[in-house]
Parts: sequence; C-alpha cells; structure tokens
Amino acid sequence: MSEISTSAAIGPDAPAIRERSRLSFDLDVDICVVGAGLAGLTVALEAARLGASVAVLEGRHVGWNASGHQLGTVMPGYGLPIGDLIARIGFEDTRELWSLSKQGADFVRATASEQLIPGIALSEGALEVSNVDVGDQLISRLQMLGEDFGTEVEGWQVDRVRAELKTERYFHGVYYPKAFQIDGRKYVHGLAALARRAGARIFEDTPVVSIDASGIRKRIVTPTARLRASHIVLAGNIHLGAPLRRLSETLLPVWRYAAVTAPLGERLADAVAFRGSVTDTDGIDHFRIVDGDRLMWASPETTWAARPERFAPAIARRIRTIFPQLGRPEIAEVWGGAVGQTVHGMPQIGQLRRGLWVASGFGRQGLNTSAMAGQLIARSILWGDERWRLFSPFELVWAGGPTGRAAGYVIGMWARGSSAAAGALARYRERARIRERVREARLAEANRQAGTRPPRRRQPGQPLPPGRPRPQRPPPPAAAELGDGEGGGVSQESEKFPPHSV
Ligand SMILES: Cc1cc2nc3c(=O)[nH]c(=O)nc-3n(C[C@H](O)[C@H](O)[C@H](O)COP(=O)(O)OP(=O)(O)OC[C@H]3O[C@@H](n4cnc5c(N)ncnc54)[C@H](O)[C@@H]3O)c2cc1C
Repeated sequence: MSEISTSAAIGPDAPAIRERSRLSFDLDVDICVVGAGLAGLTVALEAARLGASVAVLEGRHVGWNASGHQLGTVMPGYGLPIGDLIARIGFEDTRELWSLSKQGADFVRATASEQLIPGIALSEGALEVSNVDVGDQLISRLQMLGEDFGTEVEGWQVDRVRAELKTERYFHGVYYPKAFQIDGRKYVHGLAALARRAGARIFEDTPVVSIDASGIRKRIVTPTARLRASHIVLAGNIHLGAPLRRLSETLLPVWRYAAVTAPLGERLADAVAFRGSVTDTDGIDHFRIVDGDRLMWASPETTWAARPERFAPAIARRIRTIFPQLGRPEIAEVWGGAVGQTVHGMPQIGQLRRGLWVASGFGRQGLNTSAMAGQLIARSILWGDERWRLFSPFELVWAGGPTGRAAGYVIGMWARGSSAAAGALARYRERARIRERVREARLAEANRQAGTRPPRRRQPGQPLPPGRPRPQRPPPPAAAELGDGEGGGVSQESEKFPPHSV
C-alpha cells in the first residue's frame, strides 16, 4: 500500500486522530470483512443487523481511502451510461439493475438521518450539466429515465441552467430532485458507529496478509492474529493486495483530487445559485457549495498516487476557468483518494467461490452502489437473496497492470482534451449564432428605415450574386484555442509533477 494514497488534509478540518483498536487475539466469526470503506462497512452493518457475528479488518483506519474523502453526492445509477448498460445486458436486466441502484441510494438516505448520524447535513437535488449543446439527446435521455426507469428527472433549458450557474461553459441540464448530498466524511464514520452498535467488531491497523478460502471455515491471517469465518467479504478496493492480488489487478486505480475553498462571501452566491451538487456529463468537474459560501470541487485525476496538496493550484485554476468572476479562490483544504475502475465500468459484486465474496470497483459513484452491494451480499449470505447474480455478466477482467495504468492515463487525458475541445466548439457556435441574430436584426432595422424589403436568404450551395464580395467568416478556433487555457485539470498539471511510485 502506498502512504501517499492516504488523503492529506492541509486545513483546519483534518479529522482528529482517535484511538484505534488493533486485532491482537484469534477470533471466530460468521463473516470477516476485509476493508472498512463504504462497501465493507455497509456489509458489516447489514449483516450485524440481520444477526450475524461480524469482524471488519482494516489495514489503516476507517475511511482511510476514497470513502473518507468523497463529496457526498448520492445519485441513482452507475458510472456506466444507461445506454451502454442496455446494449450489454438488455432492457429488462438494466431496469432491474437501475432499480437496485435506487435502493442503494434509499439505504443511504435512511441511514444518513440526523437522528442516526448527527451533523450529516443532508440537502436535496443534483444537477448534471452538459458542456456541449445537445438538447435532442437530452430529451431522449429524459424520456428513458423518467418513463422507462421510473426516475424523477427534469430537463433544464440553457437559460435555466445559466440562471443557476453563471457561466457560459454549460448548456442543458438534467435535474434529479431526489438525488441528495451529505457530509461524506461523517457518513463513513457514522456507518462504522452504527455497525459497532449493531454488534460488528471493527479492528483498525489490522491488514489482512493472506486468506485460505478453500475450506468450509475459511482462514484469515493478519500480522498479529488469525481468524476463522464461514464467509469472507473482500472490500479492499485497489489496495487489497496480498490476500488476492489477482483481484486487485482487475481494477484500474484512479486517484481523484478535491478541495474546499476559503469562504468566498457574496460573490459565490452571485456565481452559483444552485445549492445541490453539480456534475458535468463528461465526468470532469463535480462541485457544490458547503458551509454557505465555500466551494467544494473535485476534478484532477492521475493513475498514480501523488501528494494531494500539489493539486491545489490546478483546482483553483479550474474554478476560475468555469467561474471567472470568482477570481482565483484561496484553497483551504485539499485531499484525494483512489477509486477502482473496472474495465467494463460496472462494480464487482458477487461470490467468487463458496463463501468468498467481492464488493469492489465502485469507481467515482460509490455511495449508492456500495450501499446496494452491502445489502445484496449480507442478504444473500443470511437470507439466500440471489439478486447479486444480476452482476454476473460483468466478469473480472484484468485491467492491464502498469500498461493499463499508462493507457488509462492517456485515455483520461484524451477524454478531457476532447471534452474541452467539444465545449469550446459549442461555445464558439453559440457566439456565432448570437452574432448572426444581431446582424439579421440590424439588417431588418436598416431595411425598415430605408423602406426596402430584406434580401432573400441565400440557400446553402446557391452561388453569390455576381459582383458581390464573398463574406469573410471568422475562422473556427484553432486546437490550442479550443483547450481551456487554464490548466484544464489533470493533463497539464500532471506534466509538472512526475509520477510517484505506487
Ligand atoms: C475525491 C473523490 C470524490 C468522490 N465523490 C463521490 C461522490 O460524491 N459520490 C459518490 O457516490 N462517490 C464518490 N466518490 C467515489 C467513492 O468514494 C468510492 O467509490 C468509494 O468510497 C469506494 O469505497 P470502497 O469501500 O470500495 O473503497 P475504499 O474507500 O478504498 O475502502 C477500502 C478499504 O479497504 C482497506 N484495505 C484494502 N486492502 C486491505 C487489506 N489487505 N487488509 C485490510 N484492509 C484493507 C483500505 O485501507 C481501505 O480503507 C469519490 C471519490 C473520490 C476520490
């Protein structure tokens, strides 16, 4: 495991160090969970509530990786677009999987109540914005989500989006009124507290170094103790390592970095009126207002572990690129965490062999999906619920090792570059349309004053009248101009920082 991958808080909100309990004696349990992130803790909570004896073994501490450093946005669905899912497994199974993903979100909502987790700060609504002008695609997506998948969604026109987010970067939007956000750090620690209260035992600083899953009673070895369990749930994400290295190798690790700004005062309300989470359809920026006048913002990514604080300038530049009116905001705290991306884009949920389970690969959308996985696995072990089999089409596929990471990085850079280019082209076209409308209005006004009728519009391909000079069109923006020119997230920043070994 890499130390660098632990997230670094540089601000005053760094979580307090509390006493951790390490496993130093042998133990017999029904279920041993490896990893105290969102996935492992949800399995533990559900299984303990259903009456099983559960031990969670965590190599570092609760929420050490991505789970303790997410932005707290809870949406339905998966990282994989719904159209891709239908193409792969068909309409009916996609509907079932979608419905499971909504149940995952419902689980988080029910758990993240003020009563169960005080200070969780749940707020409603999320907006997915497009950085290109694709109104037609939006309509068909809305129909599919609303009519076929029973998800409450609203389509927002460009004007509505820009009334809430004062930037020319975004066009149409899909508003999810039932999506919500919570304090992500509080949630993972709240889950741990609830699991303990339900009877699960959580041991930190207790890495699992090997497992023997062959017998009915499986063996788990840590540096200071041995366990026996009827079921092992591997919820170690990309850091699982020695217990089942081949499993970790089916995940492409992607480190994602986020920051929260210092208070921005009233200028923030002038730029961002929307109070929920905002994500863009290319999965590049993800932000929301916290504490009234601060921005929490995630964007840069690498396929190696880097020190999060190095990305503070890149995030500040990215905020200024989207909202120039905010100037260059001061960054108060910055952190990062590694998510595991599968080759097919869907999480790994299921039974690898009798009594050996996996809950991993949740990518950038882990809150609802890990909650769903935890429920499915606990209920399968204790109630015989077989719905996890819906994930069987998504097999464990090797992610390509170091070559896969390099390829993943190049693909990520390419995706960001082409998203920036498509966005710049869309904005250029929009400006050209506005200029054209202004020209036409002026021409109409001139004709009205001169008492002449406007000339008929020339059809495409129709030759110009003889003797008229050919109009000069401004050239479309060059490739360099199409880029954000503001760091654009990872690609430029990461060139400055050489990769750290993992
Ligand atoms: C910056 C950022 C923002 C995000 N924002 C959102 C968001 O708003 N909404 C959303 O839905 N998702 C978000 N995500 C994604 C989400 O955080 C992840 O998908 C989710 O946390 C994955 O949870 P996990 O339990 O699988 O993995 P992890 O959080 O990695 O937990 C795995 C745990 O297992 C432990 N472990 C590994 N191997 C061993 C071993 N051998 N022995 C013992 N312990 C072991 C690790 O130490 C770790 O603590 C975000 C991610 C990042 C990085």
